[in-house]
Amino acid sequence: CGIVGYCGDRRVVPVVLEGLRRLEYRGYDSAGIVYLQDGEVVKHRAEGKLVNLESCIGDAIIADSHIGLGHTRWATHGAPTTENAHPHSDCSGELVVVHNGIIENYHSLREELKEKGHLFSSQTDTEVIAHLIEEYLEDDLVAAVKQAIGRLEGSFALGVFWTGMADTLVAVRNQSPLVLGIDKESGSFLASDIPAILPYTNQVIFLDDMELAVLTPEHRIVYSLTDGREVAKETKTIEWNA
Ligand code: GLU
Repeated sequence: CGIVGYCGDRRVVPVVLEGLRRLEYRGYDSAGIVYLQDGEVVKHRAEGKLVNLESCIGDAIIADSHIGLGHTRWATHGAPTTENAHPHSDCSGELVVVHNGIIENYHSLREELKEKGHLFSSQTDTEVIAHLIEEYLEDDLVAAVKQAIGRLEGSFALGVFWTGMADTLVAVRNQSPLVLGIDKESGSFLASDIPAILPYTNQVIFLDDMELAVLTPEHRIVYSLTDGREVAKETKTIEWNA
């Protein structure tokens, strides 16, 4: 699948859609986008290729929004329907997740979370991640994501957004690809692969497995999930064009 995220001065919807277009080779059972506008989470999802999403979002393309996430899905758990399309939300609808990979222990986590009162609206393994983070979330998204990751088995590249930290995206990589980008103007990207962000920047940071990144328009801070420490990552310059 393809993941794209952005926060910064640019309008987010065209940036994310262009990124997803450049990742469509990674799968296109469905596509979805989420962004924050006037403090509200706005989500659009559609079955099939990206063009289906593009044709149903209407004025969203010009939304005055500067933070968001997008996803093109290659379904592994749950049919390729709109309700199974990413982004997936927690019960409050204020926390959203996009995911590439497979959560091996999703079934037992789902049962556990259902017993705690969580209501699920898809058949995906991904949705458990949103509810699990919600379960741990008090006021620190990064701490809650770390706790949730500790419970997950499998492969995952994640992009996470929560209205409680409205200028921040959290990215995690474990056995599924994820890169960060530094906008030449102002802003930060995350993406499954470099071509998604090359129209905007050639400055990238490659995440390694079990690393978590906190992205704001000005900063990209990377932590090791193994020892919790900040990691000094090298920014690389990509010399080719897509
Ligand atoms: N396992 C997840 C799903 O089926 C993510 C698939 C993907 O990588 O696109 O929704």
